Amino acid sequence: MSDVTPVDAGLFASLDPPRLLGSRCGECATVVFPTAQSCPRCSRAAMAPHALADRGTVWSWTVQGFCPKPPYVPPVDGFVPFPVGYVDLGEVIVEGHLLVDRALLEIGTPVRLALEPVRTADGDEVVTYAFTLDEEAA
Ligand SMILES: [Zn+2]
Repeated sequence: MSDVTPVDAGLFASLDPPRLLGSRCGECATVVFPTAQSCPRCSRAAMAPHALADRGTVWSWTVQGFCPKPPYVPPVDGFVPFPVGYVDLGEVIVEGHLLVDRALLEIGTPVRLALEPVRTADGDEVVTYAFTLDEEAA
């Protein structure tokens, strides 16, 4: 895992195991993702780095049916529609690619955070985050 480069340096609190980096307000405990300088609830600039939970449940989902605009880079074999959704991590809801069989997807499906290799427009191999079925909770 040591040679893995995140697509964005500020995206992860750690890569092994993968944990997303959010911010938590020291005044009102609001958690946001991605990180923020000031709190969207109380407006105080009291945000501190906060590793998000790596397990959650599907809050809502849909199928991305057309190729997204850049900076999205389609796979070498061409674009294939894929499920995306909002995942409730308890403290915050995060949008992401769902690497889950559509037949198993429903609101409440347990998922866990995973790394997904992607290519940048320059052809570099990097990783972003996605969610896979949480086999232990399913
Ligand atoms: Zn706050």
